[in-house]
Amino acid sequence: MIDDTYLHERTEDTTPEKAISIFQEMIMDMVTNRGIGLAANQSGYNQRTFIIALPGGVEMCINHQIIWTSKDTYLNTEGCLSLPGNTYQVTRHEQVRLRWTNLLGHTQTRKFKGPQAACVQHEMDHLDGITIKDYHENK
Ligand SMILES: [Zn+2]
Repeated sequence: MIDDTYLHERTEDTTPEKAISIFQEMIMDMVTNRGIGLAANQSGYNQRTFIIALPGGVEMCINHQIIWTSKDTYLNTEGCLSLPGNTYQVTRHEQVRLRWTNLLGHTQTRKFKGPQAACVQHEMDHLDGITIKDYHENK
């Protein structure tokens, strides 16, 4: 269930053992709300992990680290399952390279581009307690 208890908090590092217990619920929340990504603290869990729909299936990225971001940025219009009915414009890097632990405990590295890169940045913001609405407040 979508639950904003931890939505505005920086999430804590987790483990594949803990993350797998919330994986199915997160997929349910993402799919039933027609999302392309979801952070654990959108489902009410204080764990540093997010899921993203990729062409090969759904990947769960645990304890991600940003390795590199492109200098090129663009203004992207985004919605959010935690802010239904609203869209906001957010500046995003065109490409990002991430490292994370997957559900099998293996270290993964991948470069994301375009809409996938924007999705990754959106979910990473969530795990730091930041929503797209926050970019338009306190200015
Ligand atoms: Zn969101």
